[in-house]
Amino acid sequence: MQPAVQIDVDEASGIWRTDGLPMVYVPRHFMVNMHKEIEKTLGRDAYEAMLDRSGAKSAFFWCKRQSELLGASERDVFALYLRRLSERGWGRFSIEQLDLDQLAAQVTLRDSIYVLESEGQAAAPTCYMFEGFLIGAMQFVCAMRGIDPQAITCREVQCAAMGAAECRFEVSCVLTD
Ligand SMILES: [Zn+2]
Repeated sequence: MQPAVQIDVDEASGIWRTDGLPMVYVPRHFMVNMHKEIEKTLGRDAYEAMLDRSGAKSAFFWCKRQSELLGASERDVFALYLRRLSERGWGRFSIEQLDLDQLAAQVTLRDSIYVLESEGQAAAPTCYMFEGFLIGAMQFVCAMRGIDPQAITCREVQCAAMGAAECRFEVSCVLTD
């Protein structure tokens, strides 16, 4: 089977693009080794907080760009974002629930790269990289609906690296009165 994403390569510069954005194709072990070393150096809490910010910023940018390119609804862009993450090899994401009124989502993930690269049974959920991604995608949904939440949180509430059948994320917003 060939990749589902289209890759355009600029002949002059060699830059790869998918969905109109420059991309980098890297080995999975590179991503995971870097991830583990940063976690060790910064400590999980500081690294997780940093990833929430950087992941959210990048996901929001991606969703906004696709929305401008495609003119799609926030629900469709959210779904496309997860589809593209899946098609680009991070794991197989599924939306179990996306409630646009409650601004909440439940997402499952199978074959996460962090589960596939984990050694033995993990003591804590390993796929927290994706929490920031989902926060950013929800930020985009909120922005499209003209809502400015106090906070958006995402937690991996179960992880296949700890023995669960699949990884599961819950996203929710704290709204102002
Ligand atoms: Zn996981």
